[in-house]
Amino acid sequence: MRLLLATRNAHKLREFARLADGWAGGSISIDPLPDKVELPPEDGATFAENALGKARAAAAATGRVAIADDSGIEAAALGGRPGIRSARYAGERASDRENLDKLLREAPAGSALAYVCALAYVDPGSGEERVFEERCSGTLAASPRGERGFGYDPAFLPDDGVPDHTMAELSDAEKDAISHRGRAVRALLAWLPVPD
Ligand code: IMP
Repeated sequence: MRLLLATRNAHKLREFARLADGWAGGSISIDPLPDKVELPPEDGATFAENALGKARAAAAATGRVAIADDSGIEAAALGGRPGIRSARYAGERASDRENLDKLLREAPAGSALAYVCALAYVDPGSGEERVFEERCSGTLAASPRGERGFGYDPAFLPDDGVPDHTMAELSDAEKDAISHRGRAVRALLAWLPVPD
């Protein structure tokens, strides 16, 4: 079984490729989105709506089973912001670093955070649609640390990780074991009918 991953985010593609490595003994693999497929604007009200919009667009354009994730970070001190606006928190074309700096300015060190990942599955043949939503809780570091991961990882201290390590200081395997995306992929896998 081959799944099309509807994303233009190279970091996500790398994480999914890693998480998919060895899926069901290699019988499930993921393919990147063809260049010609256009993804819709992320204008839904929830992570799930945005994820479904991307997976539906990719499935409709290619006739193939597609998956897509919409993810972000929620800060308790900011009433859940930036949430679905995480990629554009400091402006439409903001860099990861600008978004991260804005969060560090606005939320106090030690306050509660949660990463959220909604992973949508769309089969254009059967019409089957599913969304798996998972979270990873943590707190805000006083200043960014670590070179790995992406986005808000240098300031995210996961509750379940290595004590006093930001997500950007964890190995790939350590991040995948606890991350919102790792958990959502495992939920999808547990549900997927695995071919013989
Ligand atoms: P979108 O799902 O394309 O809307 O983008 C999600 C945004 O949330 C990313 O650009 C990051 O800013 C943030 N994000 C999502 N997952 C992660 C993660 O695993 N680490 C760090 N930042 C993340």
